Amino acid sequence: MSVRKVSLAYDGAVVAEVPETPVSEIPQILKRGESAARVMAQLSREERASILFRASQKMLEAKPDLARTIALESGKPIREARAEVDRAAATLWFSAEEAHRLAGEEVPMDAAAHGKGHVGYTMRQPLGMVAAITPFNFPLNLSMHKVGPAIAAGNSILHKPASATPLSAMHAASILYSAGLPNDALQVLVGSGAELGEALVAAEGIRLISFTGSAPVGRGLLAKAGMKRVTLELGNNSAVLVLEDADLDQAVAACVSGAYANSGQTCISVQRVYIAQNLHTQFLEKFVDLARQLKIANPLEEDCDISSLIHEQEAQRVQAWIGEAVREGATLVSGGGRNKATLQPTVLSNVQPGSKLNREEAFGPVVGVNSFQSLDEAIAMANDSRFGLQAGVFTQNLNAAWRCAREITAGGVMINDVSNYRVDQMPYGGWKESGLGKEGPRYAMEEMTALKLVSWRLS
Ligand code: NAP
Repeated sequence: MSVRKVSLAYDGAVVAEVPETPVSEIPQILKRGESAARVMAQLSREERASILFRASQKMLEAKPDLARTIALESGKPIREARAEVDRAAATLWFSAEEAHRLAGEEVPMDAAAHGKGHVGYTMRQPLGMVAAITPFNFPLNLSMHKVGPAIAAGNSILHKPASATPLSAMHAASILYSAGLPNDALQVLVGSGAELGEALVAAEGIRLISFTGSAPVGRGLLAKAGMKRVTLELGNNSAVLVLEDADLDQAVAACVSGAYANSGQTCISVQRVYIAQNLHTQFLEKFVDLARQLKIANPLEEDCDISSLIHEQEAQRVQAWIGEAVREGATLVSGGGRNKATLQPTVLSNVQPGSKLNREEAFGPVVGVNSFQSLDEAIAMANDSRFGLQAGVFTQNLNAAWRCAREITAGGVMINDVSNYRVDQMPYGGWKESGLGKEGPRYAMEEMTALKLVSWRLS
């Protein structure tokens, strides 16, 4: 059996070795998953909710271990890793609550002339066996955003975490089993996306592929999934607008944290800041001042703010994009330096519209600050993207806020907050090339259940 090494990119230390799931084992995995799906479908709402409530509690009890695991496998600063455990436990809790609420509705059959004498209602039934494919950047919480709703809806689930970060997913599975999850209802598959992931996407018997990851992989997967349902949570190059009446200090502090949390490796990380022209210089000075105070360190150090990206190649890629943007006319205001996999928090201004740093998802600790002259121009700049996951707007002007909320083409608009504001029960999912379908337990459960109409003819 082959073994996968999990290592910390910050210093190259090997953190663990885990057995890989051979692709040849998939037929047996599917068989076990199908029989677990039959068991899951028999559980009552109360039984499914109880498992999830207990697991949520146990996850909080395991917080020190889980947070350390997240920090070591992904390079996430330890304080952020602890916050991720809290959020993952909340995601399971919200899923449990939604298990209680999962319900259909009465259909007014006799609103049609030939519906007279009929009663109709809908039921939401489990799909059966579903598959989750998840990324490295929130290895616990984004996994629970699929596992929690799948269990709450009465499905069995096959979970392939990112190959760089399988450990927290494995730990979460052991917690769910200790909370009473039936055998094989959650099988964690360790291995590469290119082999194991592709094999899962092609496998028979899986009813839904719930994918979170990059846009190119998501697009490829959609083409290969055949008649399976597919939900895609993909990337973004998030914009934040700071209008001339904004509370500047609030906006600066939120943008610094939004740009550099998890070293910028967040799908809704602040990447493009558009600021009213008269505030541009002042904003940049305050922003750079705060960004320079961030401490670069080993993720296990308590006061670490910024640590390594997931791989050194990723840090090289982002640094190359910074160099390219500067050659194309941008000004490097701060940062840009790199030590192996760790990149300094970087600020540029005047990033040209055609530069990769503006058009693509950077997924690193880098932000471009450009100015606008009118609200029309600001909204057009925010919308000049093939992505549309979330955006932020800072303003005290009600009319301007309302226009931004209506006119920005994204799945979420955060007024007086940054693009990466999220609570785990809200509907979350992108427009345009940022994805298909929604997460947030209640919304994910709509994707993970089949709607059945039952009609009764009354005699
Ligand atoms: P990724 O490279 O697309 O990988 C995501 C998952 O897909 C991993 O488990 C990966 O396995 C697997 N995979 C890779 N190739 C595959 C294939 N051909 N078939 C099936 N599965 C395959 O993304 P990542 O680098 O881990 O994560 C960063 C990306 O995720 C960013 O673009 C970010 O914006 C996005 N993201 C989106 C959201 C959201 O909610 N919208 C949240 C977080 C992250 P391996 O690890 O083995 O390659």
